[in-house]
This record gives sequence, structure tokens and C-alpha cells, in this order.
Amino acid sequence: MLKSRRQRLLPFFETHDLDLLLIEHPVNLRYLSGFSGSEGALLLSPEQGWFLCDSRYTVQAAQEVGDLCVIEQAQRQEGVAELVRQAGGCRLGFEASHTTVSNHQGLAARLPGVTLVGLGPELDAVRICKDASELGLLEQVAGLASASLESVLPLLQPGVREDEFALKLEFEMRRRGADGRGFDFIVASGVRGAMPHGRASDKAIQAGELVTIDFGAVQNGYHSDETVTVAVGTIDERQQRIYQAVLEAHDRAIAAVKPGISCRELDAQARDHIKEQGFGDYFGHGLGHGLGLDVHEKPVVSPRSEAVLEEGMVITIEPGIYIPGFGGVRIEDTVAVTADGCRLLTKVSKQLVIM
Ligand code: ZN
Ligand code: ZN
Repeated sequence: MLKSRRQRLLPFFETHDLDLLLIEHPVNLRYLSGFSGSEGALLLSPEQGWFLCDSRYTVQAAQEVGDLCVIEQAQRQEGVAELVRQAGGCRLGFEASHTTVSNHQGLAARLPGVTLVGLGPELDAVRICKDASELGLLEQVAGLASASLESVLPLLQPGVREDEFALKLEFEMRRRGADGRGFDFIVASGVRGAMPHGRASDKAIQAGELVTIDFGAVQNGYHSDETVTVAVGTIDERQQRIYQAVLEAHDRAIAAVKPGISCRELDAQARDHIKEQGFGDYFGHGLGHGLGLDVHEKPVVSPRSEAVLEEGMVITIEPGIYIPGFGGVRIEDTVAVTADGCRLLTKVSKQLVIM
């Protein structure tokens, strides 16, 4: 399977006339070689692959990278340069989106006569459609995170601090087998709900507030991403109206997910409804994003997106309304695009819950 993933890179060799391609970004390394450590390098020719790491990772790499040749090397760039010289490559592709200027300069200095060819975000896009094993892992981590939230949600009561709740949720995820939290949770109550990325603070939750909780776990390298907004105690008519507007936008978008729809059109399904309800000025971000080994990856689902959905893509649908000085609502699910629609990976009900 990893071999077939690496074969997806063959068109890059042709298009850019490459002899060799260097992969160092940990997420791409994991995807293409199986290596789960934090530092290594994968050098590929159209026919062959070499995995380089230092002595901290030799044993682990031998276990994880299958039939790739593992080479121990104390200084990674020297090892890469040595291999490139041995392989006789004169055009070396590299990950332009993940390579620092100083690493690029170091490699160029070690490889006089070799042309370094930067490949942009199109290289990361080889991960855009998930295979069956990835879909299984994404469904597993999403289910784990949803179940964790459902288990701790009764603790969300007046007087509890946002950061206390976030910690309990993270603990529950770890208890259920997560490797950790996928990102810093957003727990934004009351007026803080107007901040789409309001990280959990020391503010105590009060009765009558809406609380937005954006949470995700990571397991085997794969992430989950889900948002609920719940009411603590009785909320007023305006809060309810905003909630219903976001929920309807979310439902319409999910109903429209299928192969062939453009991400721009999908975004409009939700955005147009929010505009019709009079809240168009308060939905500033895109509708969603791809999810996998990274929390945010291709495709982007926004009014500016050029992408078109395909079977196997995994995206979030997360409309929101954020009103400064008042508060906000966001509702987010993660879906896998199927042959004729989509399958929900996240499992918490999005009907309004009043605690
Ligand atoms: Zn999220
Ligand atoms: Zn998200």
C-alpha cells in the first residue's frame, strides 16, 4: 500500500524532469514511508527509495518502513548529499512548502551542479483522497473523540471554567486511547463565543450562555475535528435563532456533499442560508477544510476554493455566526465523501442541547 502511495509521485518526476525527490516533512514521511518519528528523510527515484535517519531512529525505522533501504547517518543533509551523488542525480525535487531557507542553502552548498526543484502544495495534495486504511483510522479517532465529549458534557455547568472543562475532555480522550489532543481546544462561552478561535480561558461558564467547544483527538497520526455549541441554562430568542440558522446551514451543506460538487458551490450552500437569515456579515471564515495526518489540509472549502470533491476526500463542514459583544455559534462535523454522498465520521448530535 505504501508503495502504491509512492507511485502517486511518479507524475512529478515526469512533469519536473526529476532524477530524485527528497521528502522530509514528517507528515509526508509518515504517509509515504510509514515512519512515525519526528525526523528523517526519504529519497526517492522513480524505481527506488532510501530512508535516512540518525541513530535515535534506526531500530524504529527498520520496523516501520517496510522494504525501503534504511541508512543511518548522523548529519541528515550530508547523508542526503552523499546519496544524491552516488545515485548520480542532477535534478533533485524538494518540498518547497516545508523547507526552510537555511536548509535549502545548506543542501545547495553540498550539491554543486545539482538543480534543486521546489515542489509546492501540489505535493501535499497526493494525500487528498484517503485510502481504506486511512478512512478506518479517521473514523476510529473521530468516534473516540465524540464519545469522549458525550461522556464529559454533563460536567459543563455554571461555575466551571473553560480550561477545566478542556482538561477533563483531553483526559477522557487519553483514557479512551487517544495519543493526545489534536489541537488546542476551543472552549468559548458567552461573549467569548464571538472569537472563532477563542482558546479555552480561565473564564467561568455562566447560566444563559452558549458555549462553543471545538475539539479533536489524534491517534496513529490521524486527527478528528468536531464542534458543538451547547446552551447552559435558558437562552433567549436571539441566541436560539442564531443557533437554528447555523444548524440549517450545516445541514444544507452536508446534504449537498457528493463527488463532483465544487468546494466553492458547497460553501455557498451554507453561506447563502446564513445571508438570507440576515447574518451574512458574521460568517467570515471558509466552510471547511480537509483533514487527515494534518488538522488542516487540502481541499480548502471556501468561496475562493478551486477544488472539486472526489470520493475518498475527508472534509469538515463548519459554518458559524460570530457577533462581537454578543457571542457566537459554530457547528462542525467531519464527513467522508462517498460514491453518492457522504458519511458522517463525527457522532455527537447537533440538535440544540440545553444543559
Ligand atoms: Zn474544529
Ligand atoms: Zn475544523
